[in-house]
Amino acid sequence: MADRTRIAAGSAGEQGVGMTETRDYDVIVMGAGAVGENVADRAAQGGMKTVIVESELVGGECSYWACMPSKTLLRSGALLRAARKVGGTREAITGDLDVAAVLKRRDEMTSNWNDSGQVEWLEGAGIDLVRGWGVITAPREVTVTAEDGTVTVLRAKHAVAVSTGSASLLPDIPGLRESEPWSSREATSAQRVPLSLAILGGGVVATEMATAYAGFGAEVHLIARSGLLAGDEPFAGELVAESLKKLGVTLHLDTEARRVERTDDEGFRLELSDDTVLETDEFLVATGRVPRTSGIGLDAFGLEDGGWLRVDDSLRVLGADGEPVDGGWLYGVGDVNHRALLTHQGKYQARAAGDAIAARAHGRDVSLEPWGAFVATADHQAVPQVTFTDPEVASVGLTAARAEKAGYRIRVVDYPIGKVSGAYVVADGYEGTARMVVDEDRKVVLGMTFVGQEVGELLHSATVAIVGEVPIDRLWHAVPSYPTISEVWLRLLEAYGRPEK
Ligand SMILES: Cc1cc2nc3c(=O)[nH]c(=O)nc-3n(C[C@H](O)[C@H](O)[C@H](O)COP(=O)(O)OP(=O)(O)OC[C@H]3O[C@@H](n4cnc5c(N)ncnc54)[C@H](O)[C@@H]3O)c2cc1C
Repeated sequence: MADRTRIAAGSAGEQGVGMTETRDYDVIVMGAGAVGENVADRAAQGGMKTVIVESELVGGECSYWACMPSKTLLRSGALLRAARKVGGTREAITGDLDVAAVLKRRDEMTSNWNDSGQVEWLEGAGIDLVRGWGVITAPREVTVTAEDGTVTVLRAKHAVAVSTGSASLLPDIPGLRESEPWSSREATSAQRVPLSLAILGGGVVATEMATAYAGFGAEVHLIARSGLLAGDEPFAGELVAESLKKLGVTLHLDTEARRVERTDDEGFRLELSDDTVLETDEFLVATGRVPRTSGIGLDAFGLEDGGWLRVDDSLRVLGADGEPVDGGWLYGVGDVNHRALLTHQGKYQARAAGDAIAARAHGRDVSLEPWGAFVATADHQAVPQVTFTDPEVASVGLTAARAEKAGYRIRVVDYPIGKVSGAYVVADGYEGTARMVVDEDRKVVLGMTFVGQEVGELLHSATVAIVGEVPIDRLWHAVPSYPTISEVWLRLLEAYGRPEK
């Protein structure tokens, strides 16, 4: 347990009622999302006395309002459509989705927004929890104000890790803020499906929620400034657009929302840049994220209040001079550093940061050399991401456009996944595309994109090939099983050309 010292009331926070408590630790983690939990766990495993601060639910966005509920909302519809693509089960399906049952399963997946299971896990891992809003009030000091006004001052001997995550961005559109639209939180936790839903955005959250709600039978309009999934290979967005249309979604691409207002019956009225006027029951804004770094005391250290945190590869926060802030006790891990807004990548950073904190505390040398034990090198070269639309989009590494922009001499190989025997088995009329981007100078894979049904599980093979920098000649000896969709690897290599010796 922590060393606890009781000091006079009010000395560390005017909001405090009653006593203010001061506790000493080795490491303080701000934010108990998936990332903060992992920083704390690794630091604790490294012998650090660790405390984590959380103002909402232990488990963070991913568990309650992001990955888990969104994937649960998508899963049932994906399975139903998959079953309809296979003779034999197609005939057996006579009904539609049981939407109430889907929402109930989502409620179970989020433990009904109750974090007691995660709190138990923290206890088991030997990590203390302080609930409340944390602010960095001095070097290595975080003052936490609980909902009831209780103030706890935490002091760390070694490090403070900021893992406060990100929140939905609200673009500057007349009437938008006042109309109080849904963010991803309301879309993933809704207890009823609206008859009609407008979605603003063309990225992962927008396309996934369009897929889910169209599957539930809502009339969905998706409004995107450009095409869909702009960060991926262009064919990914095109295939997803086609399938959304088949699901009944009306796409308003290359279109902006000009003005938003509430209607008399509590619905929404949207004026679009092409003069279309939409009236829908609900309106989801999914146009990006902002860092949750406002009002947490960062400005006192020369950092922008509310800005993304710039970090080195061991996740220490860097100042304007490019050096670790104030000698290097401050870390920024997960969404807050804007390297890759994904749970798995944040947890990877968390393992590096937690281990680096413990190693430095024990006086060990922490090398920033790429691919070492304490660095998140993969953030720069191999970030895997699956978008659970229908078809799924699974990508890792560089797209052809990004590789070219980065100055690589590349060759691009495409293959229609539907021509692979494994795909015949998975679904009648399977459609999809795979793309391999090869660095022609080093003969290694730089990027891979698979678009198709159930390709998400294929992605790790590509991540391993990229991280391992496996030469193309050696990949010929990685034999995919027959008949699986993995055989697309073989077809891509054949299309690329056999090694000469
Ligand atoms: C709809 C949606 C779907 C997604 N799906 C996926 C997916 O399928 N796969 C995937 O990899 N990623 C997905 N993501 C992204 C993923 O949710 C985030 O990358 C991940 O949650 C980031 O984790 P984090 O711990 O950095 O931040 P968070 O999970 O946001 O946790 C930060 C925590 O800090 C707390 N906090 C903030 N400020 C303070 C403070 N001052 N004091 C105390 N506590 C504070 C917050 O309450 C929060 O609990 C999705 C995102 C969205 C929006």
